[in-house]
Amino acid sequence: MSIRKIGILGGGQLGRMLLQAAANYPVETFVMENDAHSPAAHLCHHFTKGDITNFEDVYNFGKGLHAITIEIENVNDEALEKLELEGVKIYPTPAALKIIKNKILQKQFYKKNEIPSSDFLITQRLSDLNQQLHFLPAVHKLAMGGYDGRGVQVLKVKEDITKGFDAPSILEKMVEIKKEIAVIIAVNSKGEHAMYPAVDMVFDQRLNLLEYQLSPAALPENVLWKIEAIATKLVKKLNSAGIFAVELFVDKDDNVFVNETAPRVHNSGHHTIEGNYSSQFDMLWRVMLDYPLGCTEAILPAAIVNLLGAEGFTGDVIYEGLEEIMKLENVFIHIYGKKETKPGRKMGHVTILSKEKQELIHQANRIKNTLKVIAAPNL
Ligand code: ADP
Repeated sequence: MSIRKIGILGGGQLGRMLLQAAANYPVETFVMENDAHSPAAHLCHHFTKGDITNFEDVYNFGKGLHAITIEIENVNDEALEKLELEGVKIYPTPAALKIIKNKILQKQFYKKNEIPSSDFLITQRLSDLNQQLHFLPAVHKLAMGGYDGRGVQVLKVKEDITKGFDAPSILEKMVEIKKEIAVIIAVNSKGEHAMYPAVDMVFDQRLNLLEYQLSPAALPENVLWKIEAIATKLVKKLNSAGIFAVELFVDKDDNVFVNETAPRVHNSGHHTIEGNYSSQFDMLWRVMLDYPLGCTEAILPAAIVNLLGAEGFTGDVIYEGLEEIMKLENVFIHIYGKKETKPGRKMGHVTILSKEKQELIHQANRIKNTLKVIAAPNL
């Protein structure tokens, strides 16, 4: 096969890990991002400084490429539509991206296709909530532009509604969550798909922060089947090649609800780099280069700990405790190359592999307690 030119919109850690996997294949890589020092900027063949939300920038970047993928949903989809008409392959298709980008359209898509997801209604402005008190407890979510928990507000009682959003949003019934699960599923141009084992996203109940992720998820066989059936139906109906991360809730009665879908590589699949035969990043290149799908099977069970910027530190990053963690067996460090840390910023992740689940949890806690992302004090 001749070398293909493939572009990535966005230059963060997802782009960086995609580029690490691209090095194995006959592909010339292009990245567009506003920040010339972003994590992916130095790993691609061609970097373009530009605004991924701007029509002209995206269109000019894309014309002449064989294919484009995204590492963030917030890109200019009109430009992608035009590029698609002109023969550039887009992963995911702009049509699928448009549905997913807007939580109102996303929820309507689930409803129309009978994909289980919690009941919802639409609000246009904050005052609309006054008429919907019967719907509480519920979760209010901005239709556009929210990510990593920003743009989500839990509204339990009447007094909470002032915390809602004064812009188009969905109000979604609160699910009594027992577990939060994610599955990654790849679809090629022929419509064939490959699914990775489900991942358990374990939260700190007190802080509502992601503690760590474990794969495979500990769930009864019948729940795993439900998850598989739902995720397969979902990508079939989206009718797009690419890679998709489906986040789901399992409630106390083992009902399964789709929370949301990301049409791209995802944080919940980072363990697949070391833990599975074909990683999510390798898999997306296989899809975009029209190669056979990879093997999604796990080599060993895995856990991921995200390395987030510690509270109270902003500035040039220091990784405290790194060497101690690197002495551990079966622990793999990924530093994203961001110069500056700030509270909560995703600065890296650590993957742990072990046959024993207890060992995964033990090491995940050890890493969380030992490895700190801080900054030098301002002098
Ligand atoms: P984001 O896209 O910003 O990550 P999510 O829609 O995933 O936002 O919501 C963030 C978190 O809020 C979820 O991980 C979950 O813990 C909680 N949440 C979201 N929707 C519901 C719901 N319907 N019921 C209960 N909790 C929810």
